[in-house]
Amino acid sequence: MIYRKDHLPKGMAYNRRPGLFMSATTITIHNTGNLSSTAANERNWLTNPSNDRQASYHIVIDEREAIECLPLTESAWHSGDGSGSKSGNRTSIAIEICESGNYAKTLDIAVALIANMLKERGWDVDRLRRHWDWSGKVCPRLMYDDGKWTGWIDFKNRVSKELAGKEVGLVVKANLIVYGKKIEDALLVDGKTYVPLRAVGDALGVKTAWENKSKTAMITE
Ligand SMILES: [Zn+2]
Repeated sequence: MIYRKDHLPKGMAYNRRPGLFMSATTITIHNTGNLSSTAANERNWLTNPSNDRQASYHIVIDEREAIECLPLTESAWHSGDGSGSKSGNRTSIAIEICESGNYAKTLDIAVALIANMLKERGWDVDRLRRHWDWSGKVCPRLMYDDGKWTGWIDFKNRVSKELAGKEVGLVVKANLIVYGKKIEDALLVDGKTYVPLRAVGDALGVKTAWENKSKTAMITE
């Protein structure tokens, strides 16, 4: 799966990137409601000069890629429930699932990505929301099934299974910057950051040592 970042510029038209800090507590699922647009189309629409709507979202997924349109630590306008501190707009990461192309494949990507995101945060599927949960809009509409929401239940079950299958923790490469200088890579394992002690020690001017016999890393001075 391709995951790429293409963030909206700050201060952009119609307040689509309000720049409000968000410490997300849930992830909200949407369908785009457009049978022909791809993830790239949806992303481009956000910076299209003829778009006069305020709506925005964090991640859009199609059959080949996921595009991050806004930092996941900033609010987007997606849940239709205002800007109160408990609103979906202020507390939830918005994921748009495209309806174009091979929808089954797109759903596979969505399940994998969302399971990873939950894992990274130590969350379970009870953190997933529908747009519907915030404002009553029939969205994600392809999971609605005339109000029975069987597609939604199936989707959550699939994410739950994927999550349970992750016996080995998710390892993600992370940047490590000390006093503005990038040093060796760090690793994110199950939401915890691991850094190379010697490289950090050198950057901080602190002495470190390694005792191989007892497999002990030390900060000595
Ligand atoms: Zn929606």
